[in-house]
Amino acid sequence: MKSTMLPPFANEPFADFSNPADQAAMEAALHKVKGELGRDYPLWIGPEKVMTESKTVSVNPGNLGEVVGRVSKATREWAEKAMDAALAAFETWKRVPAAERAEYLFKAAGLMRERKHEFSAMMVYEAGKNWAEADADTAEAIDFLEFYGREMIRLSETNELRPLTPAAGERNRLTYIPLGVGIVIPPWNFPLAICAGMTSAAVVSGNTVLLKPASVTPVIAHKFVELMEEAGLPPGVINFVPGSGAEIGDYLVAHPKTRFISFTGSKEVGLRINELAAKTSEGQIWIKRVVAEMGGKDGIVVDETADLEAAAQAIVASAFGFQGQKCSAGSRAFIVEPVYDEVVERVRELTAAWTVGLPERNFKGGPVADRSAYEKILGYIEIGKGEGRLIAGGGKADVEPEGYYLQPTVFADVDGKARIMQEEIFGPVLAIGKARDYREAIELYNDTEFGLTGSFFSRDEDRIAYALEEMHCGNLYVNRKCTGALVGAHPFGGFNMSGTDSKAGGYDYLLLFTQAKLTSRKL
Ligand code: NAP
Ligand code: MG
Repeated sequence: MKSTMLPPFANEPFADFSNPADQAAMEAALHKVKGELGRDYPLWIGPEKVMTESKTVSVNPGNLGEVVGRVSKATREWAEKAMDAALAAFETWKRVPAAERAEYLFKAAGLMRERKHEFSAMMVYEAGKNWAEADADTAEAIDFLEFYGREMIRLSETNELRPLTPAAGERNRLTYIPLGVGIVIPPWNFPLAICAGMTSAAVVSGNTVLLKPASVTPVIAHKFVELMEEAGLPPGVINFVPGSGAEIGDYLVAHPKTRFISFTGSKEVGLRINELAAKTSEGQIWIKRVVAEMGGKDGIVVDETADLEAAAQAIVASAFGFQGQKCSAGSRAFIVEPVYDEVVERVRELTAAWTVGLPERNFKGGPVADRSAYEKILGYIEIGKGEGRLIAGGGKADVEPEGYYLQPTVFADVDGKARIMQEEIFGPVLAIGKARDYREAIELYNDTEFGLTGSFFSRDEDRIAYALEEMHCGNLYVNRKCTGALVGAHPFGGFNMSGTDSKAGGYDYLLLFTQAKLTSRKL
């Protein structure tokens, strides 16, 4: 298969749940998946499915009495066996032609598309996403499979697309070959899209992996691994080793046979992995490569020429979509003095109208991920009460059944140096600050150790040009929300403590999972 023979990449369309057909399809999927909850899931070590005694119990964060599944936990011994299986599989997988490897991704994308609402429904139960958020997650997973499949074929054709400078009497070629065995460690907040994206990018590039899913969302990760098996992927290419990051994470990162680590998650864990991976283990013959996409303290800047209604809508959608648990969530807003009161008031109104309830019943807001997130966020709300003026929310939300529900919460008049302006809360908490003018607002925006997403609202072309130049983040938007990056259109990754700026869903991403080999033959 040549890249020119494939239909060009296009984003998977979102479902429209105001349409009765889409709504009925989602309800049917929720019903079907509900009947599948509570099962036991194995580890995958090469061709073996291993059920272990010790299990992670995945619970619906919006209905604590409901067990989503019990997932076997890998010990170090199992992790070691998985490493052996991945090393063995690498010897054959690396020789499979790129276009053939890509076919597995296209097949998986097709299968996922046929059953997309089932994948989304599982995320409604396991991650507490509402229907549209879950649907967007599934659509992004399909996009990653389609996009990286095409990208691998394109990389394999580099010599035709971008020929080397001719050298007389030689035939020269540049080939992108795989690295080896990688450890893939995704977060729980895009439990299908990021898991599928990180894993498929690594394997389509010819590597084999140990996939350690987030402990909050291992069941949807297992559903993805099953899909890859259904698509025909040979055993040992993806080994599924759930378990506590703390217990097996360090072991796998430090392992001498680990060639690379692809991580998405918090700054703290990302920095730890980076440090551990930099130490050379006994018997190690390479420098480990670390791709680490980490946290954010993203924000929206609004000047007095902006469409203020659109700005307020974007601030609220960016702050509270999926309960503020996106790395791109707009947890800060800086508004210039002349329109400050008006925008703050509109944000307050929109927040007050943001209903919170059981995800399967599709409220705008749902629960946060787990007890530790719930308690951490409640702690930040208390800190916020000492740092700003509480104008909406401010604590637990009263919802039946029992779950980790919080009110969307807004603090106004917050100083740029306040903790709720500087630290990633990863929950439905928005801090708003006042600026003299758009330049000061941009300075406040830039005053962070992170640099993932940002957005600037204005109608003034000179100011927009200034903001495009000055706002320092990996994904900068104008006159739209700062969440909702699309594969292919908005390659995604951040600066500074937001990570290595890998630009997932972009044309540079697969280079991170390959090494270029130059061959030169005298004619
Ligand atoms: P996290 O706590 O850092 O966990 C991420 C993954 O790392 C999980 O699979 C976790 O396993 C694992 N882990 C924990 N300790 C480890 C260790 N010592 N060694 C190896 N792995 C370890 O992050 P999270 O709470 O899942 O996700 C939220 C964070 O991700 C936020 O900071 C968010 O901004 C960030 N994020 C960034 C992006 C981006 O593209 N920049 C995208 C999405 C999310 P356990 O679950 O078992 O602890
Ligand atoms: Mg965590």
